[in-house]
Amino acid sequence: MQEKMSITTKILIAMGIGLVLGSALNGFAADNTFVQIYLVQGLFHVIGKMFINALKMLVVPLVTFSLICGVCGIGDVGMLGRVGLKAFLLYMLTTAMAITLALVTAIIIAPGKGEETHIIENTGFAVKEAPPLTDVFINIVPSNPITAFANGDMLQIIFFVILFAIAMLTTGQAGQSIANGAEKMNEVMMQVVTIVMDFAPIGVFCLMAKTFSEQGIGLILPMIGYFSVVVACLLLHALGTLNLLLMLMTRLSPRVFFKKMRSAQIFAFSTASSNATIPVTLQAVEKRLGVHNSIASFTIPFGATINMDGTAIMQGVATVFIANVYGIELGMMQYLTIIGMSVLASIGTAGVPGVGLIMLAMVFNQVGLPVEGIGLILGVDRLLDMIRTVVNITGDATVTCIVAHGENELDKDIFNNPEAGIITDVTLPHKQPE
Ligand code: ASP
Repeated sequence: MQEKMSITTKILIAMGIGLVLGSALNGFAADNTFVQIYLVQGLFHVIGKMFINALKMLVVPLVTFSLICGVCGIGDVGMLGRVGLKAFLLYMLTTAMAITLALVTAIIIAPGKGEETHIIENTGFAVKEAPPLTDVFINIVPSNPITAFANGDMLQIIFFVILFAIAMLTTGQAGQSIANGAEKMNEVMMQVVTIVMDFAPIGVFCLMAKTFSEQGIGLILPMIGYFSVVVACLLLHALGTLNLLLMLMTRLSPRVFFKKMRSAQIFAFSTASSNATIPVTLQAVEKRLGVHNSIASFTIPFGATINMDGTAIMQGVATVFIANVYGIELGMMQYLTIIGMSVLASIGTAGVPGVGLIMLAMVFNQVGLPVEGIGLILGVDRLLDMIRTVVNITGDATVTCIVAHGENELDKDIFNNPEAGIITDVTLPHKQPE
């Protein structure tokens, strides 16, 4: 009997076909109105957007119920504080390591040096105001939780839900009944994730086909230096730094970790959004890697919001690149400022496409680089956004495994079982004919 293909393999194939078809359309049918209007901006755009909406639709209810279950599962406010602090510090540490790696590599390779006049012409970036840093902290506390839920503001939702769940823990019977209900809702929401995942091959295909039919390889060529340094640093960080941390702090196999993170990484790549990927990352970390819900329900949405290793890498390389192009010398103090600012910017960067670039304006302002310089890297940013989002969510999952391991909340049997948590097609019930 023929073995059934796993959903990840199907998605991977769909992604490959979308990528090839999209690039082909970009190369051969860029001027064909029928292809552009009906296929790229029509079919691919509509289905791709519908799929992203379906993923986003899951995030708020899933995070809410999962987080209530998580906090009740931990059951102890002291431990909750400890897990939160550990996750926060590790998130900051990995981001600082990422930006340092990026700066060192970019300084050594010096992308943009000697290309000043050649590149500087194509600016035209409308500078958007980056939010002031103080607002980032003030806005953690929602003035209206319903608005926070309606806007999908992750930090505010986390803040409110944790407070609510702590209150549940301390109100005895009343809290217990809500906890039981939340547990059931969480289970059902996880099933909704599985159903949506069934449509993932089609969604991912359309997203890939649309992006690559718009983003031809031609855009990358003049920026090849900058592009390759960012990609090299992203790879070095994901396969080097993060793997090393995982190995040293948990003794778990990075190979198994990467294999089981594949589906979440594909989603991150095709959506360029850590937030939209939360349901898939949660599924991978809990069901495939064996992290208990009490840890993952908190650290994954938290990480998707405040931990952006990939974004920090782009910001580090971009800063050195723009300084080179404009012939501006950066000193040690400025490099340290860049590290600090990028770590802080990563907290303020929402896990949605392209925000990293807006936060870059904050870093540039701080070290006195011309913000219009961002216009130079705009053209290649969409592709880099896809790749850095993969690194962002890989960092979230790595830290989650480390924290869970330290708290004895990681089931090694599940981690080492290759079959654990693999999604197979959902058979939807239908009425039997009488
Ligand atoms: N797209 C990234 C994310 O969602 C954020 C960014 O770098 O723009 O993780």
